[in-house]
Amino acid sequence: MPRSILIVDDQKGVRRLLEELFKREGWDVYAASDGMEAIAQLDQYLPDILLIDMKMPNMNGLEASQIILKKHQNLPVIMMTAYGEMEVVKHALDAGVRRCITKPFDIITLRDLVLQIVREKVS
Ligand SMILES: [Mg+2]
Repeated sequence: MPRSILIVDDQKGVRRLLEELFKREGWDVYAASDGMEAIAQLDQYLPDILLIDMKMPNMNGLEASQIILKKHQNLPVIMMTAYGEMEVVKHALDAGVRRCITKPFDIITLRDLVLQIVREKVS
């Protein structure tokens, strides 16, 4: 069964890059452009992992993750943060986000992190 990922980023270019990466490796890929859209999508379909950007309009990645993790405690979440956002990272980990990765990141490092976290997943 293919693995599935929801990618949430307000930048179209980032979404497209990540979508292509995971599709190429056989994943089912879903995408959303902000936190509200992500929350709505997760009511329809629960992926194996959520990759979410921190800085987005309307609802940022931290706020969205806090709401999402209250409802879907077992959903592994990786948040993409900017350099120096130590407070945000702390709050994210407190909310149950598994890992934060600093932008810009190496795409293969991200892919490996996603794989590692999906494999660790306890259901
Ligand atoms: Mg952003």
